[in-house]
Amino acid sequence: MSRLSFAARALAPLSLIACFATTLAGQQPGRPAPTPASPQDRTMAAMHGISSHVILDYVKEMTAEKYAGRLTGTAGYDSSAAWTVGLLRSWGYQPMGDKGSWYQKFPNPYTLVRPGTELSLHLPQPGGGTITKSYAWETEFFQGSTSDAGKVNAEAVYVGYGVTAPELGYDDYAGVDVKGKIVVVEPEVPMGPMPDSAFFRKWRPYSFHSYKIENAAKHGAAGMVYDYHIANPNARFVKGFILTYVGQTVMNDLFAGLPVSHRQTVDQIRSTLKPASRPLGKTMTLVNNTEHHPEGIGSNVIGVLPGSDPELKNEYVVLGAHLDHLGYNHEMMPGAHDNASGVAVLLAAAEAIAKSKVPMKRSVLLLLFGAEEQGVAGSEYYVAHPVVPNAKITAFLNLESVGRGERIGVSSGVEYPAIFEAMKRANDAYVHRAMGAFANPNLARPRQDAAHFLWAKIPTVSIGTSGAPPLPYASYHTTKDRWEILTPEIMEDLARITFLATLDLVNR
Ligand SMILES: [Zn+2]
Repeated sequence: MSRLSFAARALAPLSLIACFATTLAGQQPGRPAPTPASPQDRTMAAMHGISSHVILDYVKEMTAEKYAGRLTGTAGYDSSAAWTVGLLRSWGYQPMGDKGSWYQKFPNPYTLVRPGTELSLHLPQPGGGTITKSYAWETEFFQGSTSDAGKVNAEAVYVGYGVTAPELGYDDYAGVDVKGKIVVVEPEVPMGPMPDSAFFRKWRPYSFHSYKIENAAKHGAAGMVYDYHIANPNARFVKGFILTYVGQTVMNDLFAGLPVSHRQTVDQIRSTLKPASRPLGKTMTLVNNTEHHPEGIGSNVIGVLPGSDPELKNEYVVLGAHLDHLGYNHEMMPGAHDNASGVAVLLAAAEAIAKSKVPMKRSVLLLLFGAEEQGVAGSEYYVAHPVVPNAKITAFLNLESVGRGERIGVSSGVEYPAIFEAMKRANDAYVHRAMGAFANPNLARPRQDAAHFLWAKIPTVSIGTSGAPPLPYASYHTTKDRWEILTPEIMEDLARITFLATLDLVNR
C-alpha cells in the first residue's frame, strides 16, 4: 500500500471539485485562462523541470569537437558563446554587452598548440657516451601552452622556484649560469599563504607563471622545464622561449645519480628558504609546435532578466561561470568538469528562473566569462569594466567545476553567510545534499573568477563539488576531462539549489 493515507485519498475528489470551481469562476469569456498556479507552485514546477539529462546534454554540446576546446580568442570559443546566447535569448534574457550586444570584448592574445612535440633527456654513461630517454606526451609531459615554436637542445640547470627577489634576500639564479640553457623550475613559491599571510603577500608576485617564464628569459635561458604537469595557457608568450610542462617521472630522472633527490631538494628549499640551484649534469631536447596570435580578442557573454521593483530592480543577483577551456594541446581538451559543468548548471538555473515567471524585485545578471584559463582575464576585465555598478551587486554565485562528486562546497560562504544561508534554505527544504561553507582568505594568485570580485569587496561565493571516486588517470587540464567522468545528479541538485537561492536572494 502506498504511503498516501485513506483520509487523503477520500479528500482528493473534493479538492479536485474545488479546483475546478475556482477555474470556472475566475475565467471570463474571450480572455485567456489566468495562470492557474501560485508563484510557489510555479517555483516548484520549474524546480522539478530541472533535469540532469538536459544539463548533461549541455555539457556534451560544449565539449563537442566543433567548439575545439573553447580556447578564448578562437572561432571555437566564439561559436560556443553564440550557442549560449541562443539559449538565453530564447528564454527572454536581454543582452548587456558592448553596444547592445551580448558580448563584452577584451584583448586576449592566445597560442595554438599543435601535434609535433618532443621531450627527451640525454644521460651520460659511466663508460662514456649517452643514452637518450624520450617521454610520452600527456602521461609524462605537455607542451607549454604559451611556448614559442622551435627546438632547444641544451644543458639542464635546476633553479628551484625561479625567483629573483632582492627585497626578500632570495635569488634562485645567484651563482648559476643559465645562458642558452634549459632551466628546471618549480611552481608557486616556497611557502603557503598560512600561517604568515603578511610574509606570503610579499612572495605572491613571484608565484605567477608569467613571472617565472619572463625571469628565466631575462637571465638568458633558452627554454624552461616546468614541474607542473598540466596543459595550461595561463602565462604570457615570450618570443623565442621554449616551455614544457613535466610530471614526476621527468623530475626524478633529472635528479638521477645526484646525491639528493628532487623531493629532498624541494623540502630543503621550503624549510630553509635558501636556494638549492645546480647544474643537473644532463642535457635535454625540447621541441614544440605552436602558433601565437597576439591579435586575439576574447569575450564575456552578459545577459540580464530585469526585476520589477522600481527601486530594487537596480540591484543584481549575479550568476557566473567560465565558458572557456584550453583548446588543443595536440588533442582537444574537452573541459567537461572544468567548466562546461558550471555553465550547464548556470543555464539550467537561468532557464528555470525565466520560465517560472515568479515576480522578482531585483534583477538577475548572468556572466559567462572568457579567458579564465588565461589568468582569469575575462573576470578581471569585467570587474574593471562593469555593466552595472559593482556596488549594486548584492550577491555573486560563481559556479566552478561542479560536475563531479557528491558534496557541494561554498568557498567564501563563511565571509558571505547571507548567500550561503539562501543556498542552505533551498538545500534543507528540497534537495538534501551534503553542503558546506568554507572560509577563503583569497591570498594566493587569482585562480578563479571569484578572485577579482572578492578583491573588489563584492559579496561573492564560488561553488564547487567534490567527493568523486578517484579515476585511474589524471583529469584536471588533460584530454580526460570528458563528460563521461561527470556525475549528472549533483549538477541537477546544484542547479535546483542555485535556482531557488537566486529567487530567494532577488526577493529578500
Ligand atoms: Zn581550468
